[in-house]
Amino acid sequence: MCSTNAVQVISRGCIPQVMNTPYTHTAYIGVGSNVGNRADNCQKGIRAVAALDGCLLEIRSPLYETEPVDLKDQNWFINGVFMVRTCLDPKALLIRLQAIEQAMGRRLEGPRFGPRVLDLDILFFDELVLRTTRIRIPHPRLHQRRFVLKPLCDIAPEFVHPVFVKPVRSLLSGLKDGENKVTLVQ
Ligand code: ADP
Ligand code: MG
Repeated sequence: MCSTNAVQVISRGCIPQVMNTPYTHTAYIGVGSNVGNRADNCQKGIRAVAALDGCLLEIRSPLYETEPVDLKDQNWFINGVFMVRTCLDPKALLIRLQAIEQAMGRRLEGPRFGPRVLDLDILFFDELVLRTTRIRIPHPRLHQRRFVLKPLCDIAPEFVHPVFVKPVRSLLSGLKDGENKVTLVQ
């Protein structure tokens, strides 16, 4: 079941103000880490995005400890999801997210889906569907990932995936039980 109990609303009441600013886009961003102080890395990543010119952090999920999915033999992750209002376009936003990952020490070498100090993924950008060689929105694996869908449901259970045309709560409830453990940590 989706719970919203621990969701932190960062700027309650800011929407009317946002509507008078150029922050017209809504981006849902996934954050993760399985190296070092994982929760601290996620918090720092979120704070760094919130500090970007052109982004307003509006709401964030609690953090979860999650079992690795694609490459099993590695540390468990800490994951969460947050939402920003932004005036950046998807490409500009991704470039800034990647710069934050690298400033936090993320290495580009290493196995695909392997350990990372910080991962920042654009999950949704408005209702946009974008498929280029460099950027894919919605994030192509989000609908299979409990570690994304669970925190996403904490902050936006009714958000409709523009490709599957289903709310994210249905995508979460459609996942097979028992796979990919996800446990609330804070
Ligand atoms: P994942 O986050 O799925 O585990 P990676 O973080 O290793 O995978 O990202 C792999 C590549 O995906 C990156 O080089 C990045 O440029 C690209 N990419 C494409 N679309 C997105 C997106 N929506 N959000 C984040 N990265 C993306
Ligand atoms: Mg990524």
